[in-house]
Amino acid sequence: MNGSKKVAFHTLGCKLNLAETSSISRNVAKAGYEIVDFNVEADAYVINTCSVTENADKECRFLIRGILNKSPEALIAVIGCYAQLKPDEISALPGVDLVLGANEKFNLPFHLERIAKKGKAQVHSCSVSEIDFFSEAYTLDNRTRAFLKVQDGCDYTCSYCTIPLARGASRSDSISNVVANAKKIAAKGVKEIVLTGVNIGDFGRTLLPVGSVKNEGESVKNERFLDLIKQLDAIQEIYRFRISSIEPNLLKDEIIEFVASSRRFVPHFHLPLQSGSDSILKKMRRRYTSASFSNRVHKIKQLIPDCCIGVDVITGFPGETEADFLETYHFLNALDISYLHVFTYSERKNTDAPDLGNPVRINERRNRNKMLRILSEKKLRKFYEENMDSSHTVLFEQESKGGCMYGYTENYIKIKSDFDSSLVNQLVPVTLSGFQENGALLFNFNHTHVSEPLLRV
Ligand code: SF4
Repeated sequence: MNGSKKVAFHTLGCKLNLAETSSISRNVAKAGYEIVDFNVEADAYVINTCSVTENADKECRFLIRGILNKSPEALIAVIGCYAQLKPDEISALPGVDLVLGANEKFNLPFHLERIAKKGKAQVHSCSVSEIDFFSEAYTLDNRTRAFLKVQDGCDYTCSYCTIPLARGASRSDSISNVVANAKKIAAKGVKEIVLTGVNIGDFGRTLLPVGSVKNEGESVKNERFLDLIKQLDAIQEIYRFRISSIEPNLLKDEIIEFVASSRRFVPHFHLPLQSGSDSILKKMRRRYTSASFSNRVHKIKQLIPDCCIGVDVITGFPGETEADFLETYHFLNALDISYLHVFTYSERKNTDAPDLGNPVRINERRNRNKMLRILSEKKLRKFYEENMDSSHTVLFEQESKGGCMYGYTENYIKIKSDFDSSLVNQLVPVTLSGFQENGALLFNFNHTHVSEPLLRV
C-alpha cells in the first residue's frame, strides 16, 4: 500500500494502549499516510487491541465485522495485546490482512508498505519472552491532558491476569528520556501529564532505554519511580502530573510524602485492591494483605486529607464465597476511599485461576459487581460532600457537550460549566459550591478569576 493512502485507528483498552496508538499513528503519518477518523472511509483500518477480558476480544471481532461490512476492500490490521496472545485466532477471521504482536506493532509503517488484500493474513509476532526492548509512547491528540508511557510489561504472576503474557517482562524507559518526552508534550501546550504503564511502581528495576536491547548479563542500573517523579516535578512547563495506577506494595511512604509536598503531582492515587479477603488475595497471588492495603490508605489520608483514592476490585473470583464477598464489601465500606472501578471476573486462557475450581455463577458475579457499584456511588458522594466549599483549580477540557464543558480538579472532582472557549485548557481557581445529580455527580462552582492559573492550592 503506498504512502498517500488513508489510515484509521481505533484503540481498545487502557491508557497505555492510547499512548501507543497515538505514537504509532504519528509514525504512520510521518511515513506519508493520511490519518483519518475511524468513522470515515479509509484504505486501511488499524485496531489496537486489549485482552484483559473475554469481552475485549469480542469487541475487536465485532469491529472487524463492522469494517468488512462498510469497506470490504479496505485493509484490516490488528495489533496489541489480543494480537500477541491469539495471533492464529485473529488471522483466521475473515477480512484480517495483518496481525502484529507486541514486538512488531511499532513497525506498522514498514508493514503497511508491504501488505495487500490477499485473503490470507500476514502474521508478525514472536514469543513474549523474546521481547527485550522498550518502545516509548505518548498521546498528543488532546490539548489538555497527555498519557505518557514510562514502563511496560510485568514480572508479577497474579493468577487471573494475562498481561505479562501479552506484554512481556517488566521494563522501563530512562528518566532522561521520560523527561525529554514530557518537555515535548509541554511544548504542545498540554498542561497535565498522566504517567502510564503496566506496573509503573516497578519503574527502573529493569532499565532498557529506547533503542537499547538487553544483553545477556547486562547490569540493571537502579533508577527508582521516586527518582522519576522528583525529576518530572522540576519541569516548569507542565502544571500537573497524575499517577495513573500503582501497585499498593510499591506505593512506598517516600512516594506519598513526595506527592504530599509536590506542587505538580496531584493528590490522586489509584490502587488495585482486587479483593478485601486475605484468603482470596492469596489465591490471586497478590503481594499485600488487606491490612497493608488499608495502611496505605491511612498513610495517604494522614498526609493528604483531600486526596482522591480510586480502587480496583474484582467480583466473582473462583472460590469467592458469600462470606468472602461480604468481607470485601465491609472492608471497602470502612475505608476512606473516593470511588471504585469494579470488574467481573472472567476466565482467561493460560492463567491459573480457573484451575482453582469452585467457579462463582455468572449471575452471582454480576450481582456482586452491582452491589459494589452502588457502594462506589455512595463513596463518591461522601468524597464530594467533604470537598464542599473548598478551593481547587479546574483544568477545563476542549470538548463541548450540550453547550457545556467539563474539567477535573487536581483531586479528580468532575466539574461542569457552560461552554466558554476562553476557559479551554485553562487552570481556573474555583470554590466548589454545590453539586447536581443527573446521572453523574458534578460540582457547580464560584469562579474566583485571577490572572495566573494556580498550581496546587
Ligand atoms: S500486577 Fe498482576 S494484575 Fe497487574 S499486570 Fe502484573 S500480573 Fe497483571
